[in-house]
Amino acid sequence: AEEVGGEDKEVVREYFNNSGFQRWKKIYGETDDVNRVQRDIRLGHSKTVESTLLMLKDEGSLQGVTVCDAGCGTGSLSIPLAKEGAIVLASDISAAMVAEAEKQAQEQLLASKNDQSPAPVMPMFQVKDLESLDGKYDTVVCLDVLIHYPQSKADGMIAHLASLAENRLILSFAPKTVYYDLLKRVGELFPGPSKATRAYLHSEADVERALRKVGWKIRKRGLTTTQFYFAKLVEAVPM
Ligand code: SAM
Repeated sequence: AEEVGGEDKEVVREYFNNSGFQRWKKIYGETDDVNRVQRDIRLGHSKTVESTLLMLKDEGSLQGVTVCDAGCGTGSLSIPLAKEGAIVLASDISAAMVAEAEKQAQEQLLASKNDQSPAPVMPMFQVKDLESLDGKYDTVVCLDVLIHYPQSKADGMIAHLASLAENRLILSFAPKTVYYDLLKRVGELFPGPSKATRAYLHSEADVERALRKVGWKIRKRGLTTTQFYFAKLVEAVPM
């Protein structure tokens, strides 16, 4: 398989250390300085995070469970996971994102330490692209990252993430459906100023095939749609 890297990855890293960092920090935050579209994406994304937490907790308590949050962004998932008692590795290709996630974790987790028992374990933060992650985790999660890569690269990323996971792998991606494909094409005809990176859609069948190739099967599926945010969520387990 072709190695993930080259142009796409460098463009993505650069974007998420600069204008993409500013844009997404705002969307994933709580401030009021967002436009209507950004507010809608904020809502959609928070639903994906919520569904992921529900999927994870469905199988039992997260206390002491090791979770790798690959492409952690500002920590939207890593921080609530730590609050649930998970031992989290939060990593991202963008140093700016990791610094922000760490700052927010310190604010939110140290503050809640006093009234939570047992006290949450601070996630471990790492600036690393997911392709160079190593180690073994009970669970690996990768939310809204595949959208930055074409399926040819996503295959290798999925295989690598699966190799790090002992029991489950949760992925979210923008689904390639006829309707959304059309929306995206219209968007490309009229690109807004903040659309600095390409967005790639993935079909569920392609993601399923990539998982199957490395011996994993999908156990649960979810879908979040708002006006401007679309994400399929899949939970995979070893076959
Ligand atoms: N997963 C987070 C969430 O759902 O809140 C952030 C999603 S954000 C749209 C995409 C994130 O993926 C960015 O923080 C970006 O820096 C990171 N990213 C992109 N390509 C990556 C790669 N190859 N390895 C690790 N992180 C990557």
